Amino acid sequence: MKKPIYWGLIMLLVMTAFTPIEDKKDNPLIKKWDTKHQTPPFELIKIEHYVPAVTFALGEAKNEVDAIINNPEAATFENTIVALETTGELLDRVTSVLFNLNSSETSPELQAATREVSPKLSEFYSYISLDNKLFARIKSVYDQKDDLGLNPESLRLLENAYLGFVRSGANLNAEDKKRYAEISTEMSKLTLNFGENVLAETNAYTKLITNEEEIAGLPAHVKEASAYLAKQKGEEGWMFNLQAPSFFPILRYADNRELREEVYRAYSSRAFKDNEYNNSDNIKKIVALRLESANLLGFKTYANYVLDRRMAETPERVNNFINDLHKASRPMALKEFEEVTQFAKELGFKEELERWDWSYYTEKLKNAKYGFKEEEIKPYFQLEKVQKGVFELANTLYGITIIENKDIQVYHEDVTAYEVFDADGTFLSVLYTDFFPRESKRGGAWSSSFRSQSNINGNEIRPFKTIVCNFTKPTETKPSLLSFGEVTTFLHEFGHAAHGMFANTVYPSMSGTSVYWDFVELPSQIMENWAFEQEWLDTFVAHYETGEKIPQELIQKLLASKNFLAGSSSERQLSLGMNDMAWHTITEPVTEDIETFEDRSMQPTSVFKPLKGSVSSTSFSHIFAGGYASAYYSYKWAEVLDADAFSLFKEKGIFDKETATAFRKLLEAGGTEHPMDLYVKFRGHEPGVDALLERSGLKE
Ligand SMILES: [Zn+2]
Repeated sequence: MKKPIYWGLIMLLVMTAFTPIEDKKDNPLIKKWDTKHQTPPFELIKIEHYVPAVTFALGEAKNEVDAIINNPEAATFENTIVALETTGELLDRVTSVLFNLNSSETSPELQAATREVSPKLSEFYSYISLDNKLFARIKSVYDQKDDLGLNPESLRLLENAYLGFVRSGANLNAEDKKRYAEISTEMSKLTLNFGENVLAETNAYTKLITNEEEIAGLPAHVKEASAYLAKQKGEEGWMFNLQAPSFFPILRYADNRELREEVYRAYSSRAFKDNEYNNSDNIKKIVALRLESANLLGFKTYANYVLDRRMAETPERVNNFINDLHKASRPMALKEFEEVTQFAKELGFKEELERWDWSYYTEKLKNAKYGFKEEEIKPYFQLEKVQKGVFELANTLYGITIIENKDIQVYHEDVTAYEVFDADGTFLSVLYTDFFPRESKRGGAWSSSFRSQSNINGNEIRPFKTIVCNFTKPTETKPSLLSFGEVTTFLHEFGHAAHGMFANTVYPSMSGTSVYWDFVELPSQIMENWAFEQEWLDTFVAHYETGEKIPQELIQKLLASKNFLAGSSSERQLSLGMNDMAWHTITEPVTEDIETFEDRSMQPTSVFKPLKGSVSSTSFSHIFAGGYASAYYSYKWAEVLDADAFSLFKEKGIFDKETATAFRKLLEAGGTEHPMDLYVKFRGHEPGVDALLERSGLKE
């Protein structure tokens, strides 16, 4: 049916009634960004602009999607898949400013704005993902996929769009669809409750100590913090709890063994005691429902369902990988246990080493072997020098130059904006760095974007990347001096940013860091390797006052300490991965008790005998309340990838341009190809564990 000619006019009047034209004209988030590279006009954006802008952009996006759904023409790749890919451009632009700033420059007002728009956004996304007519159009294109003459990248876009729906149950019959929806609702309640129980149990334990002798060994700053905690609760003395800043220092430093044992037992029995917060039933229900949902979608186990869209692909491959590493780490872990036991004996310890003794004696051993203070290292790593070293490394490897541009607006005075140019002078990206902590910024370090790259129909859009950290701020007398850990953090986040800066794909949903989960840390972690290469350190490391080179002895200790307890830490990580895989490869609901189930999967990696009443599953929020179900292995997987990938640089030279060019191809491709294919193209073979074993000193 043809619409009457005045239809457009009616629509215009309707829209005008709901969104006053004046408002839009004044709202800098909505208006075309008339800035350098069309970067966000931060100087003009005010708090009151966000909610109206998101509301307006949501309306636009919904209209765009509805136009696809209601298109009277038959579905084609262009009018459905590409059209869907290009919807919501304004919405992306507006929400990326909102969400980035809510992380790095927030305020109660901005948080309120985020809270206000978040439900509207999820409502919109579920509106799209549940629309049957839209799925029917996508399916009809997908069904002809082999006859459309699509190139591999377009084919992958089509597959992603189709599977996005199918993996959420769009292809099920009415009855199964209903059950699938019930499972999802039930699941969100259970996982929420799991997290609440862990929180309640973590907060339930406090320990007040009034005799200072009982906390001998604790560093002054830990004592201070615990005295403050006591005072806040109206008590005299020192108060401890199960939060990380309190719990870990006790295990590491407290001479008082009974205290260590008590807090260890309290920590490792969280949500496993005989009370209302016990998570045992939650776990059994969660894994049973996950199994059922996977079965509904045609997968044998929940792990099969998850891994189908991961680089690792199958539970068999993950389990083999975990077992290979376990076999290699085991002898070293036993040797380390022996060494720590022996060392404890030398210090006069007469009993059997228990779990609550481990951190205490390993900390002392570490100091004896590699004793150096962070303060000795820091003067050699002035932030400006480190940054120069990192930027020059990128120049050496990839030929890019990174130049500050004061014409690009920033959202805080501590932020610096750069333009990144390719070797031939082509503009590649904007890069914002934001290094110092402030109350409006969340903790940690991350890389994000204000705009992703895309190139649909020759319309090249270059990305805007960020590096956000919480490094020590300079003072009037001292510049910002980084710890060695902060140097590797810088490199790590720079690697994520580079993944985006080099992106060279057609579609934004597959650009840069939009890759499978177990592949996304390769570009970041590989960069950390340079921090352990003296050849690179020598290019910039110098004392900030005297300009002197770092003493050989100090750098040797620093590099040697990297592999301290490599076997034991590897086993610890693997045990959690094994536990995760065990829970998610079940093919029948679990009836036995949590402790028995867990011992079977985790005990092979332990150097201690099982401890009755202690489990890790009931507080394993990563997999039961977070997004890491069947994914915990990714941490180790990423290490295997980055070690194996970096070994090519080790072989050809850490500044080798040819290797760098090949690696850049992998970065440019983003998610347009299966990561295993991309990896093999770069490395010449599938990743193996050998390089990691060698790097961590675990090789025989
Ligand atoms: Zn990362």
